[in-house]
Amino acid sequence: MINIPKGTKDVLPADSYKWQYVEGVARETAKLFNLKEIRTPVFEHTELFQRGVGDTSDIVTKEMYTFKDKGDRSITLKPEGTAGAVRSFIENGLANGVLPAKMYYITPAFRYERPQAGRLREFHQFGVEIFGAKGAQTDAEAILMADSLLKKLGLNVKLYINSIGCKECRAKYNAALKAFFEPNLDKLCYDCKARYEKNPLRLLDCKEEECKKINASAPKMLDYLCEECNIHFGQLKLALGVAGVDYEIDPRIVRGLDYYTRTVFEFVSTSIGAQGTVCAGGRYDGLIEELGGNPMPAVGFAAGIERLLIVMEQTGVEIPAPATPTVYLAGMDEKCREKAFGLACKLRAKGVIAEIDHMERSVKAQFKYADKIGAKYVAVIGGNELAEGKANVKNMSDGTSESVEFEKMTEYFCGK
Ligand code: ATP
Ligand code: MG
Repeated sequence: MINIPKGTKDVLPADSYKWQYVEGVARETAKLFNLKEIRTPVFEHTELFQRGVGDTSDIVTKEMYTFKDKGDRSITLKPEGTAGAVRSFIENGLANGVLPAKMYYITPAFRYERPQAGRLREFHQFGVEIFGAKGAQTDAEAILMADSLLKKLGLNVKLYINSIGCKECRAKYNAALKAFFEPNLDKLCYDCKARYEKNPLRLLDCKEEECKKINASAPKMLDYLCEECNIHFGQLKLALGVAGVDYEIDPRIVRGLDYYTRTVFEFVSTSIGAQGTVCAGGRYDGLIEELGGNPMPAVGFAAGIERLLIVMEQTGVEIPAPATPTVYLAGMDEKCREKAFGLACKLRAKGVIAEIDHMERSVKAQFKYADKIGAKYVAVIGGNELAEGKANVKNMSDGTSESVEFEKMTEYFCGK
């Protein structure tokens, strides 16, 4: 017996409707904001992520599924969706087309992590990218889209926002951060010591308790914003106010790479603990250029579908149950089953969900099965019915029965 790889999960037929529901709401939300779907490969050249996610990020240093293919190329399974979307945007000349370009994706993503609840090695993201618009109102739209999705899914979440400024003001901030952390260096975790050297902003993102304590009194980026970044942040807050979306400013939210600029945000569930961040995003005005395009602003976010489902389950959000068969056609013997088969074909052609016996069971056992699969009606065809050209139709919810002519069957069941 071969088991499923660690950190991955099957979605079984009985549960897939939950996924379809969340994905459906995500697609509806995207449509409402005028976004179109982009689909990019599950694997890309490793270099795309090294550049697009960043050499110093946890994802690239520790978490990627990288391998050599038979042509000796270094290939990586996508650990997130943005890099592929940007590559495609540039490669297909969309950057020279109609702007802004607004797109979304629903994709699996792969990260070699320590599996826990809400933290998997294969997980799924709904992500949004808006390319070409630099104004704070666009940042607000990305946030609103996430907010609207989360509300439609019935989740209680809190929005945290921050600004990490631009290259210029962040350089000053990084210097201040280094000065602050220097006397505490020996108390920091192993990873943070490396972050201190390569990318001090990342220190603020550490999940170790000891580092978190030290972080609490670190200088705040917001105090170092240059005038333009400050105006942008003010406009974002204004737009969120106009939209009536509540938020809190959290100076610890960072995206520690040079091409992330200004706005960063997270939606955190108020009902689960450790893996409570269901959605994260921000502005990355330097990424398109980093990946070989002409400089162009961009903003986006990604929501983890597994985490959304966990929160929904924990807070008892009811997901509409999938449709069950309208009618189960029971046949008593071979001839009757043949009739049932033909009628099922006709019914399905008219959009009626119809099921028949595949197991050569007795009529009694077929009834039992019809009940198990939630059939709303059972149409029994025995010898007499076959001779008279009608079926005996039982309504499974109230137990009443009536005779329905084979000829009138589609008419009878359409719309039921
Ligand atoms: P975390 O801080 O929890 O590791 P992250 O900053 O690595 O998250 P992002 O790269 O911003 O996460 O991904 C966006 C979203 O994808 C997260 O907010 C989360 O909902 C989801 N996500 C990220 N990693 C995983 C994972 N290993 N398993 C399940 N969902 C994940
Ligand atoms: Mg992570």
